[in-house]
Amino acid sequence: MTHQTPNSPKIPIRLELPTGTGFGPVNAYLFPGPEPVLVDTGLKSEPCWSALLDGLARHNLTPADLHRVVITHPHVDHCGLANRLTAHSPADIWIADLGRPWLVNLPDRLLQRVEYYRRDLLPRWHFPPDLSRPILNQLAAVARACEAVPPERIRVFHPGDRLELGGQAWQVLHAPGHAWAQTCFYQPHSRQLLSADMLLARAPAPVLDRPGDAPHDRPALAYFLDSLAQVEQLDVDRVYPGHGPPFGDHRQVIQRQRARLEQRLSECLALVRAGHTTVPALLTRMYPGPPHLAGLWMLNGYLQLLAFRGLVREQDGRFQPV
Ligand SMILES: [Zn+2]
Repeated sequence: MTHQTPNSPKIPIRLELPTGTGFGPVNAYLFPGPEPVLVDTGLKSEPCWSALLDGLARHNLTPADLHRVVITHPHVDHCGLANRLTAHSPADIWIADLGRPWLVNLPDRLLQRVEYYRRDLLPRWHFPPDLSRPILNQLAAVARACEAVPPERIRVFHPGDRLELGGQAWQVLHAPGHAWAQTCFYQPHSRQLLSADMLLARAPAPVLDRPGDAPHDRPALAYFLDSLAQVEQLDVDRVYPGHGPPFGDHRQVIQRQRARLEQRLSECLALVRAGHTTVPALLTRMYPGPPHLAGLWMLNGYLQLLAFRGLVREQDGRFQPV
């Protein structure tokens, strides 16, 4: 239970929810008053739902008490329970206009993505069946971890808007990179940032969007670096991330993220120059152990950024040094 005086900044309360995946637990944030608002929901699973109910109950709340549910970005670990909440709550689901098309149609879109990987992407990249299978199974599991939200229960906000959370106005920032529709929420007076997956204390995983899902004039990691620069300029005392505990000193975390990114880019480029030109060969070297989606997404991010910088070129599904 929190004890806050009326003038103290309203601190979002972290509800850590189990995802049962290799990605680890995910955070939802609760603003219990003056109007209870939940930011993000966890993914569609019974353990996640029970943990969410327990978290609300610790603050004498149930889903029926929520006035709004706000989604930071339309990834299953952040919005998978949104539809279930609408069945137990009068709260509508709020998301950025950019994310709305995903929310109304999420399982279908994710199943289409499985098909795209199976028929197009993984064959083009010369994935052998034993490497494709676990990747496709993990993608299919992601598609099962969410439900579509009826359009009439969705409300949208826009970058630049202000959202009322805990009795304060938070600015909506568009911060693409991890996801094209990623938003963060910033409270300039109390200098708090709800960063979602845009800024984590650990390494992030940008997502491999299907063509057409995001603008492809620049790769996801180029947008991600711009988003880091955008957030770096803000005055922030406390960051509330989508995964892991809250932290301070966001500029140090950003510098670390940038340094790690450049380091991994160099490693990737060195491997390509050493003759490891297929994605499976690079994946097993950059991410030893059983193949996993986050590794593939990150590797794709590196390769696309190296291509954008003119250092590699994709030809017949192989990445050649330039
Ligand atoms: Zn996440």
